[in-house]
Amino acid sequence: GEALAVSARVAPLGSRLVLLLVEDLTEARRIEAVRRDFVANVSHELKTPVGALSLLSEAVMGASEEPEAVERFAGRMQIEATRLTNLVQELIDLSRVQNDDPLEDAEPVRVDELVAEAIDRCRHQAGTKQITMAAGGTADLRLWGNRGQLAAALGNLVENAVNYSPARTRVGIAARRVTAPGGDLIEIAVTDQGIGISEKDKERVFERFYRVDPARSRATGGTGLGLAIVKHVAASHSGEVTVWSSEGQGSTFTLRLPEAGAARDRASGHQMPG
Ligand code: ADP
Repeated sequence: GEALAVSARVAPLGSRLVLLLVEDLTEARRIEAVRRDFVANVSHELKTPVGALSLLSEAVMGASEEPEAVERFAGRMQIEATRLTNLVQELIDLSRVQNDDPLEDAEPVRVDELVAEAIDRCRHQAGTKQITMAAGGTADLRLWGNRGQLAAALGNLVENAVNYSPARTRVGIAARRVTAPGGDLIEIAVTDQGIGISEKDKERVFERFYRVDPARSRATGGTGLGLAIVKHVAASHSGEVTVWSSEGQGSTFTLRLPEAGAARDRASGHQMPG
């Protein structure tokens, strides 16, 4: 197609330049395709709950004489509203990770605040499923980074833990400081007792749009972008995210990120006093 046409035009400039140009075009096109796919995907996914809500509200108005029907419709409206909330949250997260330099407005970020925010974000859904959320070890720990992005990363992990767990299970969030050669790290582990992830899917879940079970994921408002966002945030903060999982038993996603003091020391090249 177009790439080939261009390469034919610039061929006299030398084969190396042609190769570069073709590669550039392909990459630009790939990014554009991902963006188009994303917009199409999300627009489509947004339409479903909005359409359902509109039909259901009409049904409620028509059923005002039948309390049982009203209750049934209201229950379904709640499910669709949750779906919508999750989709919008995903869009917000995505816009948070789109700035060029995430560390431009880096600051010390308290882990207990991040954890409280993440729990708050899925409190409603956890309540509906009677999932207990517990956090520990967060006192006095501070990360160094972009608050919004760090909140998006942890929020997604906790949200997934709730989404992919059966009712009446437990989601745990444990934080601790880990000594590392380049400066201390903070490790935040999110553990669930959910469906787990098979060996072959473990690597792929961090890819954009990858979902082990698209039908199930769609029902919760998932677009397959959550873990790609988490991985992106971890990498841009010089950290990492890893997963341990046992099918049918549960999963643990672990974030390792620079501690506030350690990151500053590294950046300025000297030790902070004290
Ligand atoms: P989604 O929007 O589908 O949740 P994510 O990128 O957050 O997208 O996750 C990708 C896929 O990884 C999910 O569709 C799901 O199949 C799987 N997954 C993520 N977190 C968990 C978890 N805690 N337990 C089991 N499966 C998970």
